[in-house]
Amino acid sequence: MATYCYTIDEDRCKGCGLCVAVCPKKVLEISSKVNAKGYFPAYQARPEDCIYCTTCCIMCPDVAITITQEDEAPAS
Ligand code: SF4
Ligand code: SF4
Repeated sequence: MATYCYTIDEDRCKGCGLCVAVCPKKVLEISSKVNAKGYFPAYQARPEDCIYCTTCCIMCPDVAITITQEDEAPAS
């Protein structure tokens, strides 16, 4: 079974809200804390609801979201 790693690079994010708008599971919200550039970045408010569809990743104009898939190591 695959596991996924989801990261938002807060300091690349300009808080445009596109990812929040397109997420089909309403996982993302805009933070109330500013990042290094003075923007309010997106974050996963409900990570347990994420289905790793990558829509947010594709839509982000600043390539701030990364989703990687890691295959679990076989049991030894
Ligand atoms: S991968 Fe899909 S479900 Fe998960 S936060 Fe992004 S848009 Fe939402
Ligand atoms: S689409 Fe990208 S830049 Fe815009 S709020 Fe989401 S992570 Fe930040």
